[in-house]
Amino acid sequence: MSKWNLTRQTARIIRYLREPARAFSIDGTYETKESPYYSNPARVAVHNFRITSRFRAVSQILCVFFILLNSFSPSRAASNTYPLHVEEVAPGVFVHRGVTALMTAGNGGAIANVGFVVGNEAVAVIDTGGSVREGEALLAAVAAKTDLPVRYVINTHVHPDHLFGNAAFLRRNVAFVGHVRLKEAMEARFSHYLTANRAEMGALLDGVAPVPPTVPVSDRMEIDLGGRTLILNAWPVAHTDNDLTVFDPASGTLFAGDLVFLEHLPSLDGSLRGWQRALRELAAIPAVRVVPGHGPVSAPWPAALEPQRRYFDVLAEDLKAAIDSGVPISRAVTTAGQSEAGAWLLFDQFNRRNATAAYAELEWE
Ligand SMILES: [Zn+2]
Repeated sequence: MSKWNLTRQTARIIRYLREPARAFSIDGTYETKESPYYSNPARVAVHNFRITSRFRAVSQILCVFFILLNSFSPSRAASNTYPLHVEEVAPGVFVHRGVTALMTAGNGGAIANVGFVVGNEAVAVIDTGGSVREGEALLAAVAAKTDLPVRYVINTHVHPDHLFGNAAFLRRNVAFVGHVRLKEAMEARFSHYLTANRAEMGALLDGVAPVPPTVPVSDRMEIDLGGRTLILNAWPVAHTDNDLTVFDPASGTLFAGDLVFLEHLPSLDGSLRGWQRALRELAAIPAVRVVPGHGPVSAPWPAALEPQRRYFDVLAEDLKAAIDSGVPISRAVTTAGQSEAGAWLLFDQFNRRNATAAYAELEWE
């Protein structure tokens, strides 16, 4: 550990001791109270010490102790952050549920489902969340469940709620895995994402940096975690032009990224027709459960595809009818898909944008 890191860690731990206790709650928001997620007994000890200020000196001595401990234990390097709450959806498969909302400082950007799979020798993290802080909390969650090292960080696509936490995983022997088009998408989008989220996220964006894939996936790839192989698939243009899914045959769990939304209205940033095609192909994956990009931590497969398939069909039919009868885009997007409004959260935030993108696409059919 470098001197710079030591200084930063000291500053962070001292800041932590002076701040009110905070933790990610089950829905991804921060809480300011005692939390059941102090799963690390050492941290509970630290927390109790800070209750009375006369123990501050003792606490600061403890800091030095923990820093030394960290420097000798790489797999516990993030143990000074709060572990993200995760649920074990299948043996060795852990998921944190993102809150169904837009990214804000209040929810810490933790709006997407993120998770990890533990093999016999290594761990693969799937998406890193909407801030470095969430990434660190996810790393702490890994450390709370296993001593095995994180060897792979897999990004399902370019959207900021899925990869703003990447920088938390930058260390030797970690491979960043993504769709072959992810790097280009990051180069094109990243600074815009930072600017666009600055007002809502503020200082939580500090430290967020583009960490592009070191292992690009152009079609299909297998990752060996020791006695457990993950199957990665790079998809043609659908939710975005860089969607990647992760299938764990050992447990029958499919991490679909944002190719599958539940509860949260899907957001279209690729191709409606492409996404409809992808849904048909996704259904053939022999999974028993899916971890959607947004929504519950897991849902039965392939039944989980149904609400989204219905929404896309309604949106496409409404738009085709509008286009065929000469309704201009400005008017069509105010009515297309409206019969689905009651079935989804964040409908008003995303439907018009989806309709606008899809109108432009379907106009050429
Ligand atoms: Zn997305």
